Amino acid sequence: MGIIQRLTPKDDTNQDIFAGLLAEKNLPRYRVPQGSSDPREVRSLVSNELLLDGNAGQNLATFCTTYDDEDVRYLMDLAINKNMIDKDEYPQSAEIENRCVHMLADLWHAPDAGETIGCSTEGSSEACMLGGLALKWQWRKDRLAQGKSADRPNLVCGPVQICWHKFARYFDVELRQVPLTGDGLGMGPEDMAKYCDENTICVVATLGVTFTGIYEPVRELAAALDDLQERSGLDIPIHVDAASGGFIAPFLQPDLEWDFQVPRVKSINASGHKYGLAPLGVAWIVWRDTSDLPEELTFRVDYLGGDMPTFALNFSRPAGQIISQYYLLLRHGRDGYREIHEACAKSAHFIADQLPRVGPFELLYDGQGALPAVCYRINDDSAPFTLYDLSDHLRMRGWQVPSYPLPANRQDTVIQRILIRHGMSRDMTGLFVADLEAGVKTLTGGPRPSRSGFHHN
Ligand SMILES: *Cc1c(COP(=O)(O)O)cnc(C)c1O
Repeated sequence: MGIIQRLTPKDDTNQDIFAGLLAEKNLPRYRVPQGSSDPREVRSLVSNELLLDGNAGQNLATFCTTYDDEDVRYLMDLAINKNMIDKDEYPQSAEIENRCVHMLADLWHAPDAGETIGCSTEGSSEACMLGGLALKWQWRKDRLAQGKSADRPNLVCGPVQICWHKFARYFDVELRQVPLTGDGLGMGPEDMAKYCDENTICVVATLGVTFTGIYEPVRELAAALDDLQERSGLDIPIHVDAASGGFIAPFLQPDLEWDFQVPRVKSINASGHKYGLAPLGVAWIVWRDTSDLPEELTFRVDYLGGDMPTFALNFSRPAGQIISQYYLLLRHGRDGYREIHEACAKSAHFIADQLPRVGPFELLYDGQGALPAVCYRINDDSAPFTLYDLSDHLRMRGWQVPSYPLPANRQDTVIQRILIRHGMSRDMTGLFVADLEAGVKTLTGGPRPSRSGFHHN
Protein backbone atom coordinates (compact mmCIF):
# COMPACT_ATOMS: atom_id res chain seq x y z
CA MET A 1 0.00 0.00 0.00
CA GLY A 2 1.52 3.34 -1.03
CA ILE A 3 1.51 6.38 1.28
CA ILE A 4 -0.91 9.07 0.21
CA GLN A 5 1.24 12.19 -0.11
CA ARG A 6 -1.46 14.71 -0.69
CA LEU A 7 -5.22 14.53 -0.99
CA THR A 8 -5.69 17.67 -3.04
CA PRO A 9 -3.46 19.82 -5.29
CA LYS A 10 -0.95 22.25 -3.74
CA ASP A 11 -2.99 25.37 -4.34
CA ASP A 12 -5.93 23.92 -2.47
CA THR A 13 -8.09 26.08 -0.27
CA ASN A 14 -7.65 23.94 2.81
CA GLN A 15 -4.12 25.12 3.31
CA ASP A 16 -3.63 26.95 6.58
CA ILE A 17 -3.92 30.67 5.99
CA PHE A 18 -0.68 31.48 7.79
CA ALA A 19 1.17 28.97 5.68
CA GLY A 20 -0.26 30.37 2.46
CA LEU A 21 1.37 32.60 -0.14
CA LEU A 22 -0.28 35.83 0.97
CA ALA A 23 0.87 35.34 4.56
CA GLU A 24 4.50 35.15 3.44
CA LYS A 25 4.48 38.70 2.11
CA ASN A 26 3.92 42.14 3.52
CA LEU A 27 0.39 43.23 2.73
CA PRO A 28 0.16 46.03 0.14
CA ARG A 29 0.55 49.52 1.59
CA TYR A 30 0.73 51.91 -1.33
CA ARG A 31 -0.88 50.32 -4.34
CA VAL A 32 -4.16 48.51 -4.92
CA PRO A 33 -3.22 45.01 -6.05
CA GLN A 34 -4.01 44.02 -9.60
CA GLY A 35 -5.74 40.72 -8.98
CA SER A 36 -8.24 39.37 -6.49
CA SER A 37 -7.48 37.13 -3.53
CA ASP A 38 -9.20 34.60 -1.33
CA PRO A 39 -11.54 36.63 0.91
CA ARG A 40 -11.07 34.41 3.98
CA GLU A 41 -7.34 34.72 3.68
CA VAL A 42 -7.41 38.50 3.33
CA ARG A 43 -9.91 38.82 6.16
CA SER A 44 -7.72 36.77 8.49
CA LEU A 45 -4.61 38.73 7.65
CA VAL A 46 -6.29 42.09 8.06
CA SER A 47 -7.89 41.12 11.36
CA ASN A 48 -4.55 39.70 12.49
CA GLU A 49 -2.96 43.13 12.03
CA LEU A 50 -5.67 44.69 14.15
CA LEU A 51 -4.33 42.80 17.17
CA LEU A 52 -1.86 45.67 17.38
CA ASP A 53 -4.66 48.06 18.31
CA GLY A 54 -5.27 48.61 21.99
CA ASN A 55 -7.90 46.45 23.63
CA ALA A 56 -11.00 48.65 23.71
CA GLY A 57 -12.39 47.07 26.88
CA GLN A 58 -9.24 48.09 28.80
CA ASN A 59 -9.27 51.60 27.37
CA LEU A 60 -10.07 53.67 30.46
CA ALA A 61 -9.27 56.83 28.50
CA THR A 62 -12.33 56.87 26.27
CA PHE A 63 -15.85 58.05 27.00
CA CYS A 64 -17.13 55.96 24.12
CA THR A 65 -19.04 52.70 24.20
CA THR A 66 -16.81 49.65 24.14
CA TYR A 67 -19.42 47.07 25.08
CA ASP A 68 -22.10 45.97 22.63
CA ASP A 69 -24.57 43.20 23.26
CA GLU A 70 -25.64 40.66 20.66
CA ASP A 71 -28.92 42.42 20.02
CA VAL A 72 -27.11 45.63 19.10
CA ARG A 73 -24.92 43.64 16.72
CA TYR A 74 -28.05 42.10 15.19
CA LEU A 75 -29.66 45.49 14.65
CA MET A 76 -26.44 47.01 13.30
CA ASP A 77 -26.23 44.18 10.79
CA LEU A 78 -29.85 44.64 9.80
CA ALA A 79 -29.26 48.31 9.09
CA ILE A 80 -25.84 48.13 7.47
CA ASN A 81 -27.21 49.21 4.09
CA LYS A 82 -29.76 51.77 5.24
CA ASN A 83 -28.75 55.35 4.59
CA MET A 84 -29.99 57.71 7.27
CA ILE A 85 -30.17 60.61 4.84
CA ASP A 86 -32.66 58.85 2.55
CA LYS A 87 -35.65 59.53 4.74
CA ASP A 88 -37.97 58.88 1.86
CA GLU A 89 -36.58 55.38 1.20
CA TYR A 90 -36.18 54.48 4.86
CA PRO A 91 -39.08 56.30 6.49
CA GLN A 92 -39.18 54.00 9.51
CA SER A 93 -35.56 54.70 10.37
CA ALA A 94 -36.37 58.40 10.09
CA GLU A 95 -39.36 57.87 12.38
CA ILE A 96 -37.15 56.08 14.90
CA GLU A 97 -34.66 58.95 14.82
CA ASN A 98 -37.52 61.34 15.59
CA ARG A 99 -38.75 59.20 18.46
CA CYS A 100 -35.28 59.35 20.02
CA VAL A 101 -35.20 63.14 19.62
CA HIS A 102 -38.51 63.52 21.44
CA MET A 103 -37.60 61.02 24.15
CA LEU A 104 -34.39 62.93 24.83
CA ALA A 105 -36.20 66.28 24.74
CA ASP A 106 -38.51 64.83 27.38
CA LEU A 107 -35.63 63.39 29.43
CA TRP A 108 -34.05 66.87 29.37
CA HIS A 109 -37.31 68.61 30.31
CA ALA A 110 -38.04 70.54 27.11
CA PRO A 111 -41.28 72.46 27.69
CA ASP A 112 -42.93 70.96 24.63
CA ALA A 113 -40.90 67.79 24.17
CA GLY A 114 -43.29 66.16 21.71
CA GLU A 115 -43.13 69.13 19.34
CA THR A 116 -39.62 70.44 19.56
CA ILE A 117 -36.91 69.88 17.02
CA GLY A 118 -33.58 68.06 17.01
CA CYS A 119 -31.56 65.52 15.08
CA SER A 120 -28.98 62.82 15.28
CA THR A 121 -25.41 63.44 14.19
CA GLU A 122 -22.31 61.34 13.77
CA GLY A 123 -20.87 62.56 17.06
CA SER A 124 -21.13 65.40 19.54
CA SER A 125 -18.51 67.37 17.63
CA GLU A 126 -20.94 67.80 14.76
CA ALA A 127 -23.82 68.37 17.17
CA CYS A 128 -21.85 71.15 18.90
CA MET A 129 -21.12 72.81 15.58
CA LEU A 130 -24.81 72.74 14.65
CA GLY A 131 -25.71 74.17 18.06
CA GLY A 132 -23.08 76.89 17.70
CA LEU A 133 -24.22 77.72 14.18
CA ALA A 134 -27.86 78.08 15.23
CA LEU A 135 -26.81 80.48 18.00
CA LYS A 136 -24.53 82.44 15.71
CA TRP A 137 -27.37 82.84 13.21
CA GLN A 138 -29.81 83.87 15.91
CA TRP A 139 -27.38 86.44 17.29
CA ARG A 140 -26.73 87.87 13.84
CA LYS A 141 -30.43 88.20 13.07
CA ASP A 142 -30.97 90.07 16.33
CA ARG A 143 -27.99 92.34 15.75
CA LEU A 144 -29.01 93.20 12.19
CA ALA A 145 -32.60 93.82 13.29
CA GLN A 146 -31.20 96.39 15.73
CA GLY A 147 -29.13 97.96 12.97
CA LYS A 148 -25.89 96.92 14.63
CA SER A 149 -22.82 95.27 13.19
CA ALA A 150 -22.62 91.49 13.30
CA ASP A 151 -19.10 90.79 12.22
CA ARG A 152 -17.29 90.00 15.46
CA PRO A 153 -19.11 87.15 17.21
CA ASN A 154 -17.58 85.46 20.25
CA LEU A 155 -18.48 82.58 22.52
CA VAL A 156 -17.62 82.25 26.20
CA CYS A 157 -16.72 78.91 27.76
CA GLY A 158 -14.61 77.06 30.30
CA PRO A 159 -12.19 74.26 29.41
CA VAL A 160 -14.15 72.99 26.41
CA GLN A 161 -13.58 69.94 24.27
CA ILE A 162 -11.52 70.47 21.11
CA CYS A 163 -14.65 70.57 18.90
CA TRP A 164 -15.44 74.08 20.18
CA HIS A 165 -12.01 75.30 19.13
CA LYS A 166 -12.74 73.80 15.72
CA PHE A 167 -16.15 75.43 15.62
CA ALA A 168 -14.59 78.79 16.47
CA ARG A 169 -11.97 78.53 13.74
CA TYR A 170 -14.12 76.98 11.02
CA PHE A 171 -17.00 79.39 11.53
CA ASP A 172 -15.11 82.54 12.44
CA VAL A 173 -16.14 82.99 16.02
CA GLU A 174 -13.77 84.24 18.72
CA LEU A 175 -13.47 81.68 21.51
CA ARG A 176 -13.10 83.27 24.93
CA GLN A 177 -12.02 80.60 27.35
CA VAL A 178 -12.37 81.56 30.99
CA PRO A 179 -9.13 80.40 32.66
CA LEU A 180 -9.20 78.09 35.66
CA THR A 181 -8.40 79.74 38.97
CA GLY A 182 -7.64 78.44 42.46
CA ASP A 183 -8.78 74.87 42.83
CA GLY A 184 -11.42 75.28 40.10
CA LEU A 185 -11.82 72.60 37.44
CA GLY A 186 -14.43 74.39 35.34
CA MET A 187 -15.95 77.76 34.52
CA GLY A 188 -17.66 79.37 37.51
CA PRO A 189 -20.32 82.08 37.56
CA GLU A 190 -17.99 84.67 39.18
CA ASP A 191 -15.58 84.90 36.27
CA MET A 192 -17.82 84.15 33.33
CA ALA A 193 -19.84 87.38 33.04
CA LYS A 194 -16.66 89.48 32.66
CA TYR A 195 -15.98 87.75 29.36
CA CYS A 196 -19.45 88.41 27.90
CA ASP A 197 -20.45 91.39 25.79
CA GLU A 198 -22.90 92.38 23.06
CA ASN A 199 -21.07 90.13 20.59
CA THR A 200 -21.39 86.98 22.68
CA ILE A 201 -23.47 84.47 20.74
CA CYS A 202 -23.72 82.12 23.73
CA VAL A 203 -22.09 80.69 26.81
CA VAL A 204 -21.17 77.03 26.43
CA ALA A 205 -21.46 75.10 29.68
CA THR A 206 -19.98 71.61 29.78
CA LEU A 207 -21.73 68.82 31.65
CA GLY A 208 -18.87 66.43 32.04
CA VAL A 209 -15.68 68.43 31.46
CA THR A 210 -13.42 66.28 29.30
CA PHE A 211 -10.32 66.83 31.44
CA THR A 212 -11.78 65.83 34.79
CA GLY A 213 -15.36 64.57 34.47
CA ILE A 214 -16.88 67.32 36.63
CA TYR A 215 -20.00 69.31 35.73
CA GLU A 216 -20.01 73.07 35.22
CA PRO A 217 -22.82 74.64 37.27
CA VAL A 218 -25.42 75.43 34.61
CA ARG A 219 -28.06 76.89 36.93
CA GLU A 220 -25.55 79.18 38.63
CA LEU A 221 -24.10 80.27 35.30
CA ALA A 222 -27.63 81.06 34.12
CA ALA A 223 -28.27 83.09 37.28
CA ALA A 224 -25.11 85.11 36.64
CA LEU A 225 -26.37 85.78 33.11
CA ASP A 226 -29.75 86.85 34.55
CA ASP A 227 -27.82 89.35 36.66
CA LEU A 228 -25.89 90.53 33.65
CA GLN A 229 -29.12 91.03 31.74
CA GLU A 230 -30.55 93.10 34.57
CA ARG A 231 -27.46 95.28 34.63
CA SER A 232 -26.80 95.60 30.91
CA GLY A 233 -29.81 94.39 28.95
CA LEU A 234 -27.72 91.66 27.28
CA ASP A 235 -29.71 88.45 26.89
CA ILE A 236 -27.13 85.69 26.36
CA PRO A 237 -28.31 82.11 25.77
CA ILE A 238 -26.62 78.93 27.01
CA HIS A 239 -25.78 75.83 25.04
CA VAL A 240 -25.04 72.81 27.23
CA ASP A 241 -22.40 70.49 25.87
CA ALA A 242 -23.63 67.39 27.67
CA ALA A 243 -21.68 65.00 25.41
CA SER A 244 -21.14 62.69 28.35
CA GLY A 245 -23.33 64.11 31.14
CA GLY A 246 -26.52 64.17 29.06
CA PHE A 247 -26.92 60.43 29.55
CA ILE A 248 -25.64 60.40 33.15
CA ALA A 249 -27.24 63.32 34.98
CA PRO A 250 -30.89 62.34 34.29
CA PHE A 251 -30.22 58.97 35.92
CA LEU A 252 -27.60 59.60 38.60
CA GLN A 253 -28.34 63.22 39.53
CA PRO A 254 -32.06 63.56 38.73
CA ASP A 255 -32.45 66.64 40.95
CA LEU A 256 -29.69 68.62 39.32
CA GLU A 257 -31.06 71.47 37.20
CA TRP A 258 -28.79 71.64 34.21
CA ASP A 259 -31.17 71.15 31.27
CA PHE A 260 -34.20 72.86 29.72
CA GLN A 261 -35.54 73.43 33.23
CA VAL A 262 -33.18 76.38 33.10
CA PRO A 263 -34.94 78.79 30.72
CA ARG A 264 -31.69 80.23 29.37
CA VAL A 265 -30.65 76.82 28.01
CA LYS A 266 -31.58 76.87 24.32
CA SER A 267 -29.89 73.72 23.06
CA ILE A 268 -28.26 70.57 24.40
CA ASN A 269 -26.06 67.96 22.74
CA ALA A 270 -25.10 64.50 23.98
CA SER A 271 -23.19 61.58 22.51
CA GLY A 272 -25.34 58.49 22.19
CA HIS A 273 -22.11 56.57 21.72
CA LYS A 274 -20.79 57.65 25.12
CA TYR A 275 -22.98 57.02 28.17
CA GLY A 276 -26.00 56.64 25.86
CA LEU A 277 -24.52 53.13 25.41
CA ALA A 278 -25.05 53.13 21.62
CA PRO A 279 -22.32 51.86 19.30
CA LEU A 280 -19.91 54.42 17.81
CA GLY A 281 -21.36 56.93 15.39
CA VAL A 282 -24.31 58.65 16.97
CA ALA A 283 -24.93 61.84 18.95
CA TRP A 284 -27.92 64.09 19.44
CA ILE A 285 -28.80 67.74 19.52
CA VAL A 286 -32.14 69.03 20.74
CA TRP A 287 -33.43 72.60 20.75
CA ARG A 288 -35.58 73.96 23.51
CA ASP A 289 -38.19 75.03 21.00
CA THR A 290 -38.58 74.83 17.23
CA SER A 291 -38.08 78.60 17.09
CA ASP A 292 -34.55 78.22 18.52
CA LEU A 293 -33.36 76.65 15.28
CA PRO A 294 -33.35 79.41 12.63
CA GLU A 295 -35.47 78.43 9.65
CA GLU A 296 -32.73 79.50 7.21
CA LEU A 297 -30.46 76.72 8.41
CA THR A 298 -32.76 73.89 7.40
CA PHE A 299 -32.69 72.80 3.81
CA ARG A 300 -35.80 71.33 2.32
CA VAL A 301 -34.45 68.84 -0.11
CA ASP A 302 -36.64 67.65 -2.89
CA TYR A 303 -34.81 64.42 -3.30
CA LEU A 304 -35.77 61.15 -4.90
CA GLY A 305 -39.41 62.02 -4.77
CA GLY A 306 -39.65 63.24 -1.17
CA ASP A 307 -39.55 66.58 0.54
CA MET A 308 -37.35 66.39 3.59
CA PRO A 309 -35.89 68.98 5.90
CA THR A 310 -32.21 68.47 6.63
CA PHE A 311 -29.88 70.27 8.96
CA ALA A 312 -26.54 68.54 9.10
CA LEU A 313 -22.92 68.96 8.13
CA ASN A 314 -22.70 65.60 6.40
CA PHE A 315 -24.93 63.61 4.11
CA SER A 316 -24.85 59.81 3.80
CA ARG A 317 -24.53 57.94 7.05
CA PRO A 318 -25.61 54.53 8.38
CA ALA A 319 -28.86 54.14 10.33
CA GLY A 320 -27.74 51.29 12.61
CA GLN A 321 -26.44 53.41 15.46
CA ILE A 322 -29.69 55.35 15.64
CA ILE A 323 -31.78 52.20 15.57
CA SER A 324 -29.54 50.73 18.27
CA GLN A 325 -30.00 53.86 20.36
CA TYR A 326 -33.77 53.41 20.17
CA TYR A 327 -33.42 49.75 21.12
CA LEU A 328 -31.22 50.64 24.09
CA LEU A 329 -33.62 53.31 25.37
CA LEU A 330 -36.49 50.81 25.20
CA ARG A 331 -34.51 47.84 26.42
CA HIS A 332 -32.95 49.45 29.49
CA GLY A 333 -35.52 52.11 30.30
CA ARG A 334 -34.72 54.76 32.89
CA ASP A 335 -34.20 52.15 35.62
CA GLY A 336 -31.78 50.16 33.49
CA TYR A 337 -29.68 53.21 32.61
CA ARG A 338 -29.63 54.21 36.27
CA GLU A 339 -28.52 50.75 37.39
CA ILE A 340 -25.79 50.48 34.78
CA HIS A 341 -24.39 53.94 35.50
CA GLU A 342 -24.71 53.43 39.26
CA ALA A 343 -22.60 50.30 39.02
CA CYS A 344 -19.97 52.27 37.07
CA ALA A 345 -20.07 55.12 39.60
CA LYS A 346 -19.58 52.64 42.45
CA SER A 347 -16.54 51.16 40.72
CA ALA A 348 -15.14 54.64 40.12
CA HIS A 349 -15.65 55.48 43.75
CA PHE A 350 -14.03 52.23 44.78
CA ILE A 351 -10.90 53.22 42.83
CA ALA A 352 -11.00 56.67 44.40
CA ASP A 353 -11.14 55.02 47.80
CA GLN A 354 -8.10 52.87 47.10
CA LEU A 355 -5.88 55.52 45.51
CA PRO A 356 -4.50 57.18 48.66
CA ARG A 357 -3.60 53.74 50.02
CA VAL A 358 -1.90 52.65 46.81
CA GLY A 359 0.36 55.64 46.17
CA PRO A 360 1.09 59.34 46.75
CA PHE A 361 -2.17 60.38 45.10
CA GLU A 362 -4.50 63.26 45.78
CA LEU A 363 -7.99 63.09 44.35
CA LEU A 364 -9.31 65.97 42.27
CA TYR A 365 -12.58 64.20 41.54
CA ASP A 366 -13.72 61.07 43.38
CA GLY A 367 -16.43 59.80 41.05
CA GLN A 368 -19.37 61.24 42.95
CA GLY A 369 -21.71 63.99 41.80
CA ALA A 370 -20.82 63.94 38.11
CA LEU A 371 -19.43 61.32 35.66
CA PRO A 372 -18.39 57.80 36.74
CA ALA A 373 -14.74 58.83 36.62
CA VAL A 374 -11.77 59.41 38.86
CA CYS A 375 -9.14 62.05 38.50
CA TYR A 376 -6.05 62.56 40.62
CA ARG A 377 -2.53 63.89 40.81
CA ILE A 378 0.68 63.07 42.64
CA ASN A 379 0.86 65.14 45.82
CA ASP A 380 4.44 64.34 46.74
CA ASP A 381 7.21 66.39 45.10
CA SER A 382 9.76 63.75 46.01
CA ALA A 383 7.86 60.87 44.38
CA PRO A 384 10.39 58.99 42.23
CA PHE A 385 8.00 58.71 39.28
CA THR A 386 5.60 60.78 37.22
CA LEU A 387 2.07 59.99 36.15
CA TYR A 388 3.41 59.56 32.61
CA ASP A 389 5.64 56.75 33.93
CA LEU A 390 2.62 55.19 35.59
CA SER A 391 0.61 55.40 32.35
CA ASP A 392 3.42 53.50 30.60
CA HIS A 393 3.42 50.89 33.33
CA LEU A 394 -0.31 50.33 33.15
CA ARG A 395 -0.01 50.03 29.39
CA MET A 396 2.19 46.96 29.87
CA ARG A 397 -0.87 45.18 31.25
CA GLY A 398 -3.05 46.56 28.47
CA TRP A 399 -4.70 49.37 30.46
CA GLN A 400 -4.92 52.73 28.78
CA VAL A 401 -4.99 55.57 31.28
CA PRO A 402 -4.08 59.06 30.08
CA SER A 403 -1.94 61.62 31.90
CA TYR A 404 -2.00 65.29 30.88
CA PRO A 405 -1.76 68.82 32.25
CA LEU A 406 -4.90 70.71 33.28
CA PRO A 407 -6.02 73.55 30.97
CA ALA A 408 -5.00 77.22 31.43
CA ASN A 409 -4.21 78.59 34.00
CA ARG A 410 -3.49 75.37 35.84
CA GLN A 411 -1.11 73.82 33.30
CA ASP A 412 1.38 73.11 36.09
CA THR A 413 -0.83 70.38 37.47
CA VAL A 414 -0.51 67.04 35.70
CA ILE A 415 -3.39 64.67 36.29
CA GLN A 416 -4.48 61.17 35.43
CA ARG A 417 -8.07 60.32 34.57
CA ILE A 418 -9.94 57.02 34.66
CA LEU A 419 -13.36 56.56 33.08
CA ILE A 420 -15.53 53.62 34.09
CA ARG A 421 -18.06 52.49 31.53
CA HIS A 422 -20.60 49.77 30.92
CA GLY A 423 -18.74 46.46 30.57
CA MET A 424 -16.17 47.09 33.32
CA SER A 425 -17.06 44.69 36.14
CA ARG A 426 -16.15 45.15 39.80
CA ASP A 427 -13.82 42.21 39.48
CA MET A 428 -11.97 43.87 36.59
CA THR A 429 -11.90 47.10 38.57
CA GLY A 430 -10.19 45.24 41.42
CA LEU A 431 -7.68 43.72 39.01
CA PHE A 432 -6.99 47.17 37.62
CA VAL A 433 -6.29 48.56 41.09
CA ALA A 434 -3.92 45.64 41.73
CA ASP A 435 -2.06 46.52 38.52
CA LEU A 436 -1.95 50.16 39.53
CA GLU A 437 -0.53 49.19 42.90
CA ALA A 438 2.04 46.89 41.30
CA GLY A 439 3.04 49.73 38.95
CA VAL A 440 3.56 52.14 41.83
CA LYS A 441 5.59 49.54 43.77
CA THR A 442 7.85 48.86 40.81
CA LEU A 443 8.35 52.55 40.09
CA THR A 444 9.24 53.27 43.70
CA GLY A 445 11.63 50.32 43.82
CA GLY A 446 9.66 48.28 46.32
CA PRO A 447 8.78 44.58 46.07
CA ARG A 448 5.93 43.74 43.72
CA PRO A 449 2.80 42.50 45.45
CA SER A 450 1.44 39.19 44.22
CA ARG A 451 -1.48 39.71 41.88
CA SER A 452 -3.68 37.19 43.56
CA GLY A 453 -3.11 38.75 46.97
CA PHE A 454 -5.43 41.64 46.38
CA HIS A 455 -8.80 41.65 48.07
CA HIS A 456 -11.12 44.51 47.58
CA ASN A 457 -14.07 43.87 49.74
C1 LIG B 1 -16.60 63.67 23.61
C2 LIG B 1 -16.95 65.08 23.70
C3 LIG B 1 -17.20 65.84 22.55
C4 LIG B 1 -17.04 65.25 21.16
O1 LIG B 1 -17.94 64.21 21.02
P1 LIG B 1 -17.84 63.10 19.87
O2 LIG B 1 -19.11 62.36 20.07
O3 LIG B 1 -16.62 62.31 20.18
O4 LIG B 1 -17.75 63.82 18.57
C5 LIG B 1 -17.61 67.14 22.70
N1 LIG B 1 -17.74 67.68 23.94
C6 LIG B 1 -17.49 66.98 25.06
C7 LIG B 1 -17.68 67.65 26.39
C8 LIG B 1 -17.09 65.66 24.99
O5 LIG B 1 -16.86 64.96 26.11
